[in-house]
Amino acid sequence: MATLGNPQSTIAVLQKYNFNFQKKFGQNFLIDTRVLEKIIGAANIGKEDFVLEIGPGIGTMTQYLCEHAREVVAVEIDKNLIPILEDTLSTYENVQVIHQDILKMDISCLVQEKNRGEPIKVVANLPYYITTPIIMGLFESHVPIESITIMVQKEVADRMQVGPGTKDYGALSLAVQYYAKPEIVANVPPNCFIPRPKVGSAVIRLTKHQQAPVQVAQERQMFALIRASFNQRRKTLVNGLNNAPDISYSKEEIVQALEEMGLQANVRGETLTLEQFAQLSNLLVNK
Ligand code: SAM
Repeated sequence: MATLGNPQSTIAVLQKYNFNFQKKFGQNFLIDTRVLEKIIGAANIGKEDFVLEIGPGIGTMTQYLCEHAREVVAVEIDKNLIPILEDTLSTYENVQVIHQDILKMDISCLVQEKNRGEPIKVVANLPYYITTPIIMGLFESHVPIESITIMVQKEVADRMQVGPGTKDYGALSLAVQYYAKPEIVANVPPNCFIPRPKVGSAVIRLTKHQQAPVQVAQERQMFALIRASFNQRRKTLVNGLNNAPDISYSKEEIVQALEEMGLQANVRGETLTLEQFAQLSNLLVNK
């Protein structure tokens, strides 16, 4: 099987198997070797690494991963791609393809079995419709992870990286930055894929923090505060929290906590840093 990663060999594989793209699975296959090399380089894959690839498609990036890593597990939801992957990956002995929905998989168990529970590297060109649940699922379930290097919609990559005071800043920025250091490593235009997506993409590396950058007594509560304050962007933080059904503090308690932090009662959530959300959460827990 020829090396993939260019338009000719990708089209040849698609025609050989009479493959029909499934919109519901967010299928846009990479056809640019420079982008593949960028991803492998950014993920810093070496011969000692176990790599989990989410959504291998026809196996374009998987071939690269097999060349560079010790072992690869690729999880693909589309059953029509499984025979294609058997063909395109037939020369590699260090890969296992699992036909599964990644959102339903016990990844901790996989890490235990394949990497003795040691942190793994995750690499993916993600279907855009499940980017956030995949990333947050990996972080919140505390699966041992060293880094996640992923292709996402450019706009989503920007949201993960920004701080307070920008329009893209929101719950996703804070959640990602609580768990990891985000770095955009490449911008990728639509013509690097078949079929072309409507929007630009970016590769972002999320390097998991060894230790959380802020100390917070109740993670769950801090994220409830964050979600509530961005759900109602145009409201003040106090009103946003007061209207949230899962937050039970009174207006007075919230105003008092803000005062203790040296903040005005009419402050908006989008101006608070991660440190400030952690501080607010810790103050409210004690009330
Ligand atoms: N990695 C390939 C590439 O770069 O050419 C394909 C990328 S394509 C954007 C996304 C892939 O993820 C598709 O192959 C799609 O079928 C698969 N996929 C979509 N939802 C999935 C899920 N829930 N679990 C596993 N794979 C999924």
